[in-house]
Amino acid sequence: AKSAGGNRFELADPEADARAITRHGLTTALPAALERDEFFIEYQPLVHLGDGSVRGAEALVRWLHPQHGVLGPDRFIPLAEHTGLIVPLGRWVLEQSVRQAREWRERHGAAGPLRINVNLSPCQLTHPGLVQDTVDILERAGVEPDALCLEVTESALIGADDDLLKPLRRLAEMGVDIALDDFGTGYSNLANLRRLPVSILKLDRSFTQGMQQFPADPVDLKIVEGIVSLAHSLDLAVTVEGVETGAQAEQLRILGCDTAQGWYYARPGPPDRLHDLALVDATG
Ligand code: C2E
Ligand code: CA
Ligand code: CA
Ligand code: CA
Repeated sequence: AKSAGGNRFELADPEADARAITRHGLTTALPAALERDEFFIEYQPLVHLGDGSVRGAEALVRWLHPQHGVLGPDRFIPLAEHTGLIVPLGRWVLEQSVRQAREWRERHGAAGPLRINVNLSPCQLTHPGLVQDTVDILERAGVEPDALCLEVTESALIGADDDLLKPLRRLAEMGVDIALDDFGTGYSNLANLRRLPVSILKLDRSFTQGMQQFPADPVDLKIVEGIVSLAHSLDLAVTVEGVETGAQAEQLRILGCDTAQGWYYARPGPPDRLHDLALVDATG
């Protein structure tokens, strides 16, 4: 911060300064962090609301920073998007996650396919290598495209033109599922959904929050009910995120949601935990 002198920086917030410095420091440290393998992935199970079985997991990246400890994606994904590092970082996440899915399948055998959901940043969507990279990663790991779901936020696809949708269409044609993440926060035109190559809606956590009490907020109930019936009429499955209580899970199940994710089932954790959860689940 500027020191005395009567200029307007005098009132600068020292915490804001510290945040800016950290942001700058984190941004410049990102490329080396990728080289040094400081990123790791936690997996959070996706649970079928009808029978409670574990169907797959979402990959959520973290950074084990040598000074700051474990940083959540909200701290560094925006920085990586800003500098373009999100492309190699996103590719790394995809590769690790797909390999992990392969390992689960090998160890899990007959207990059923465990699918893997991976987040895709808007910058990755416009990167020309997306389709080929994804194909290569799946082939190298020996994983079928239908075991993979790529999550794209609703806001990234609002007003998307055909050029932006083309790679997603190609992936969808190959059998990769595309999920519309954070659905309901982006004010998208619902009729627009038909144009998008998506097969899953991920209802944003804000809707689940309205169902923490029993009975739930009646307006939230109506909205979710409407979204679910619209989604199903368009042949889309509905996943809900942020499920923290059994009451929420039950109401969302009654409303017809297909799959759920949240602390009520499990926090994001190491890959072995998911294997254990799925095994317990399969053996009763
Ligand atoms: P998201 O895709 O909406 O992921 C769900 C977030 O909700 C995760 O936060 C998860 O830990 C959190 N969550 C799960 N269950 C509950 C719950 O019951 N209650 C509450 N309050 N929260 C819950 P996380 O791991 O901090 O990730 C934040 C965001 O960072 C993600 O939001 C996603 O947009 C982004 N992200 C994470 N990994 C990646 C990645 O590999 N690539 C990209 N581009 N973005 C990523
Ligand atoms: Ca997501
Ligand atoms: Ca989400
Ligand atoms: Ca979200």
